[in-house]
Amino acid sequence: MRIKRKIAEAVESLAGDMVSINKAIFDKPEICFKEKFASGLVMDYLKSNGFSIEAPAAGLDTALKAIRKGKGKGPRVALIAEYDALPEMGHACGHSMIAASACAAAVAINRAVPNHPGSLMVIGTPAEEGGGGKITMINRGAFKNVDAAMMVHPSNKTRVVCRMYAIDDVEFTFTGKAAHAAAFPDQGINALDAGVLFYNAVSALRQQMKDEARVHGVFTRGGDAPNIIPERVVMRFFVRALERGYFSELMAKVAECARGAAKSAGCKVRIKKMGHSYDPFHPSYPIGEAFRENMKFIVIDEDSFGETEEIGSSDIGNLSQAVPTLHPEYAIGGREDINHSRNFLKAVMSARGKKAMIGMTKAMALTAYDLFTNPGLMAQVREEFKRRVPQGGKKD
Ligand SMILES: [Zn+2]
Repeated sequence: MRIKRKIAEAVESLAGDMVSINKAIFDKPEICFKEKFASGLVMDYLKSNGFSIEAPAAGLDTALKAIRKGKGKGPRVALIAEYDALPEMGHACGHSMIAASACAAAVAINRAVPNHPGSLMVIGTPAEEGGGGKITMINRGAFKNVDAAMMVHPSNKTRVVCRMYAIDDVEFTFTGKAAHAAAFPDQGINALDAGVLFYNAVSALRQQMKDEARVHGVFTRGGDAPNIIPERVVMRFFVRALERGYFSELMAKVAECARGAAKSAGCKVRIKKMGHSYDPFHPSYPIGEAFRENMKFIVIDEDSFGETEEIGSSDIGNLSQAVPTLHPEYAIGGREDINHSRNFLKAVMSARGKKAMIGMTKAMALTAYDLFTNPGLMAQVREEFKRRVPQGGKKD
């Protein structure tokens, strides 16, 4: 308890640093693999606090690894720093806070318990909002020496464990034949008809879907002029499900809807997967339990939400399939201040947000300390992970 208090105080003493890191990154939003300033800031901060730096990591310019070895053998614990912004919206997902928390938790542990066993890392992962930075990093072996990973994410609720959907981003291109819509309608093949039929087929399918899945899409090209029978129509859909098995089943059904619609209209359809596939996120429950205990120690209340309520998708899902991972979220404003909204932008810089960020950073630092010093906990973490990901996870 005495050491835990010391770690919490060390985080508290870094409150000023946390606020300035958050503000500096917030004021200079950079999107998807362009996070030069933010990754540089994280790097400089950790370097000046005794961490050795590996950058760029995994061949990505804005990815980094900061490492500090403790004394003696023990687990290798990584704190994840995200720092990418949203297009047009700045830091409306609060990744600037995630970076500040990772930096402060790492430096606090280093100061309060420099001789902890194992090694402590901060891994800076770019492009969470769409680029899947973590996936490239996993595939290139950046996490192969990691035994457990953690990050704390601002939100509209405080919840230690949640799940997240697997997601695929899929483009459907329907091709027909152009013709004068009034003079020669019989000679055209209408790709827009195929698109509309597809949209409606998916809407009908939604009625027969399991609860824990989502399919949603838009037309990105619907035709060129009313007097031309549309010859090319392009649609983009996100398909999401909590479990991999059902995800594949659903993906196959959506593809069948597209083929059926194309056939009805006499068109061809091309189905193309865009970008990375995000895996479903499964939290490490034993790390979650330890985190909860530490929240009690700091006196932070958890809201009561089910673990599948109000969830999205993230490349942290892929990480959770490679390494035992925890991704708690914490309220920085009211219930109505939801991620990716203008309200959230204000909450990221608010006094309430600051207090919550400091509190959750303490809980994360304390949980890292537990992982270092409690072999029983680490054994549980490994055992639960092995049961869930029998093939052993790490791709390297
Ligand atoms: Zn986010």
